[in-house]
Amino acid sequence: MSELKYPFLDLGVINAPFAGALKEAAARVIDSGRYVGGGECADFEAALAAHTGTAYAVGVSNGLDALRLIFKSYIELGRLSKGDAVMVPANTYIASVLAITDSGLTPVFVEPDALTHNLDTSRLEAAMTPAVKAILTVHLYGRPCYDEALASFAARHGLIIVEDNAQAIGADAATPSPRGTTRTGSLGDAAAFSFYPTKNLGALGDAGAVTTNDEELARTVRALANYGSDTRYHNIYQGYNCRLDPVQAAFLLAKLPYLERETAHRRRLAAIYDSEIDNPAVHKPLVDDPDRAVWHQYVLTVEERDAFRQYLADNGVGTDIHYAVPPHKQPCYIAFAELQLPVTEYLASRVVSIPISSGTSEADARAIAGIINRFNQ
Ligand SMILES: *Cc1c(COP(=O)(O)O)cnc(C)c1O
Repeated sequence: MSELKYPFLDLGVINAPFAGALKEAAARVIDSGRYVGGGECADFEAALAAHTGTAYAVGVSNGLDALRLIFKSYIELGRLSKGDAVMVPANTYIASVLAITDSGLTPVFVEPDALTHNLDTSRLEAAMTPAVKAILTVHLYGRPCYDEALASFAARHGLIIVEDNAQAIGADAATPSPRGTTRTGSLGDAAAFSFYPTKNLGALGDAGAVTTNDEELARTVRALANYGSDTRYHNIYQGYNCRLDPVQAAFLLAKLPYLERETAHRRRLAAIYDSEIDNPAVHKPLVDDPDRAVWHQYVLTVEERDAFRQYLADNGVGTDIHYAVPPHKQPCYIAFAELQLPVTEYLASRVVSIPISSGTSEADARAIAGIINRFNQ
């Protein structure tokens, strides 16, 4: 247990309401005698595909592997080639970029919008090069990053759209996809999900999934995740072992029915923060459609961030930073260190996330807003 009165995120607290169902789910797997693949995985995949509105969902080991398997599948299918470039927001979590470079592809970093924190789709055309063959849109902090500008840009240049949906399960875009869907994970050609314990739908360990309407892609992802085999002991690709663990699948099946309720709670907390935080030193996120976002994080921008975090900690409020160092400034990407990405660097130096989970009550959110309003006053 955290010592703070308002911890940033306490996973024990948020899973406590599910303890009975989770223990029953684990017992079901133990008693089944089937510990890789099996009915729990198939049932969770069916539930996730239905929730997302796609024809296929393939359970995999984690969110990074979901992204890697998508890119590697497109390469196996000849729809991408090593050396192709992929546009990606410069202020994303590094896993988005790791998946691109691990697949032999080159990231083209595009600046975010300083107010929405999502990729600034008005910058796509200027960032276009002949090598770009795909765009990895990231629904950062649970806010859909899909609009008319992005969809028409991708269509005009024949780009594959991959969604990094690790933070946005259950969100809806204001702009429908060409198929008429709005749910994130159904908007592009393929999408990656993460069920890392801190995500909106969190497993009790690592887990992830790929969704798509493309039968060939789904089949390729599933084969690559299973040693590259299409049938037992018959390997058509040099694959990996990136399967979804059935214990995690059983946990996720138990929790998925409550996701909408939890999202509604996050939206209520966001609405409280939006209406009650009023301090000229603290900038709230700009969200046109607060009830389409799923509020994985509620991210403020504050110039005096260190002082603000210390003040909040002194007043019992936990915070976190998503993310302090952008991918192009990480030691592993020294080749990109000289890129000029001022919006990304501005955000990296100012963003601070405040509590927004089922462990935070509406009364807590009002108290936190009051504490924030007394900062520097
Ligand atoms: C969490 C996350 C990932 C990686 O997911 P893992 O399951 O932790 O591998 C990828 N992209 C984004 C935006 C994430 O937040």
